[in-house]
Amino acid sequence: MSNSGYLLIADISGYTNFVKLHNLRQKNVLGKIIADNFEFHAEAIVSDLLEAVIEVIEPTLKLNKLEGDAAFFYIESNDNKNQANDIISIMDKACESFNEKASSLVFVRACGCEPCLESKNLRLKIVAHKGNFAIKKIRNFEELAGEDVIFTHRMLKNGIESNEYWLVTDSFYKDLNPSNKAKFTSNTQVLENFGKVKLNYLQLSSPEPQNSKVESRLRIVNWLAQAAYFSKAKFSKKSLRK
Ligand SMILES: [Zn+2]
Repeated sequence: MSNSGYLLIADISGYTNFVKLHNLRQKNVLGKIIADNFEFHAEAIVSDLLEAVIEVIEPTLKLNKLEGDAAFFYIESNDNKNQANDIISIMDKACESFNEKASSLVFVRACGCEPCLESKNLRLKIVAHKGNFAIKKIRNFEELAGEDVIFTHRMLKNGIESNEYWLVTDSFYKDLNPSNKAKFTSNTQVLENFGKVKLNYLQLSSPEPQNSKVESRLRIVNWLAQAAYFSKAKFSKKSLRK
């Protein structure tokens, strides 16, 4: 059965590839430990930020899947004429929540490792589309299928260099009210298997996260805070695996 509705992906990016990790891992046992630690710190920070985004989006859209540093959501169309505008408000709140969380995590920089130092570059991008999809229920999981699901994912593989923006399709855009429409500018992208597609783009540019309370504290206080933060993350990860 085919459903009509809205598809949305919130994606966190901004980390440069830790190219050095691979080399580090090959070197020796210590290198491997350091590389694992780097990866763990990057993962803990990104999943915390993603969690802050999901918390805000989830009451309005259903979380379908976690896809690495991204979360995929959907909602079937209903009689509410403001559904697309409501999604825009949620996107706004998601950005706000992301930035608040990023500011609250400024203390991790005291760790001094590359992912912790580079966490200041992490940003949120959101792509949204309105289309058709089939929902397959497998045990307790819902699998979304269809060309529009593939298309929504392909929207992230665009030629835009920024890490922070909104990108929506015409089918989503046409449901918006004039003041929301005015936020976007037309943007054409070439997407694999779909060719040239006209999209609607909003560039965002949040400043680097800051936290005066954290930044005025003694470095040792922040160092202890990050050590406690990561050991807590390690513990909760372990207990999840059990
Ligand atoms: Zn670190």
